[in-house]
Amino acid sequence: MSALRGRVLVVDDSRTVRGVLTSILSQEHEIITAANGEEALRIAQAEQPDLILLDIIMPGLDGYAVCARLKSDPRTEEIPVLFLTGLSGDEDEALGLEAGGIDFILKPVRPLAVAARVRNHLELKRVRDQLRDLSLLDGLTGLANRRRFDRQLEAEWQRARRSGEPLSLILGDVDFFKRYNDHYGHAQGDECLKAVARAFQEALHRPADLAARYGGEEFVCILPETDAIGAMQVAERIRLLLKARQIPHAQSEAAPIVSVSLGVATFTALENRKPEELLQKADAHLYEAKKAGRNRAWA
Ligand code: GH3
Ligand code: MG
Ligand code: MG
Repeated sequence: MSALRGRVLVVDDSRTVRGVLTSILSQEHEIITAANGEEALRIAQAEQPDLILLDIIMPGLDGYAVCARLKSDPRTEEIPVLFLTGLSGDEDEALGLEAGGIDFILKPVRPLAVAARVRNHLELKRVRDQLRDLSLLDGLTGLANRRRFDRQLEAEWQRARRSGEPLSLILGDVDFFKRYNDHYGHAQGDECLKAVARAFQEALHRPADLAARYGGEEFVCILPETDAIGAMQVAERIRLLLKARQIPHAQSEAAPIVSVSLGVATFTALENRKPEELLQKADAHLYEAKKAGRNRAWA
């Protein structure tokens, strides 16, 4: 098995234990250490380790309390916690598992066993992360799915409300797509949707932008910190990227090739408004784009 490099946070009030674990694990992984519970919580939030090795008996917050807090914070709840314990007995294990720990490592530690356990848990974490990502992706196009879009819109909404920056949406819909399916077949229709998805994805250049499949042949983009002019530019870029692919569409009345209509909406002051209103506005503008002849963006 190839080495799976991860970022591991080692929490123990004993400097010796921290040193021993660091020397065992640092050949394979990146090691960060914390000497008490408070420090562990702070570092876990800031550094987002893949795994935490957590001492149980420490002055101040003990390991159980630290673990319970990690598990109740959405920023850290998915990080697996392995307890380091010098004790043994069912009672401690029960407490540890209740607090949300996933496994125990007995002190004094045996180097090979520790290294193997850490490796196994990193591998499991990776699989879990992949499953979680899949459940947020659209199966056909690989874009974010509706669920991910809803979450992200909520998060960006809160961010924009705090920062006072504008927030824009682009809602796109393929022109005469029903006819495309009828004429070229459903499989070809799916290929077409993949190409449309790529145009949406490639049109976005900023890391905070998100393109998602909103429904069947509808796509949506979230553009944080983007005003109406900027959003219109992105919409036009989507349209031109798709046009450049020159996918024939013999039955379209909008163009001889596959095209999209795009509704653009921007809010600059979010107070007393809801994300749904921004979506409704984008949808209304999409309708205008369709009515005006399709194959265009409308703001
Ligand atoms: P308009 O220009 O007004 O948008 O016309 P349209 O035909 O695109 O609009 P309409 O909403 O009536 O049709 C959308 C069609 O998209 C219906 C359905 O056959 C097709 N569709 C939706 N999801 C999928 C999909 O996942 N794969 C394929 N191949 N087709 C889909
Ligand atoms: Mg539609
Ligand atoms: Mg359509």
